[in-house]
Amino acid sequence: MDKQLLAMLVCPLCKGKLKYNREALELECRFDGLAYPIRDGIPVMLPEEARAMDVDEKLHESPGRMGKS
Ligand SMILES: [Zn+2]
Repeated sequence: MDKQLLAMLVCPLCKGKLKYNREALELECRFDGLAYPIRDGIPVMLPEEARAMDVDEKLHESPGRMGKS
């Protein structure tokens, strides 16, 4: 994936930054809990095509980033 292209991509729902999951070939929005697929190298930025992430996946990363300090 082109890094510059990646940096331009935002979630169509919340306009938040997406995280590239290199193994799953998905772009993840943790805010919405959606993972947008990348097909043939092209990100599919459609909420109806996105996969709902499991709660485990959402909690998996960066514990403590949100909430209490
Ligand atoms: Zn979002």
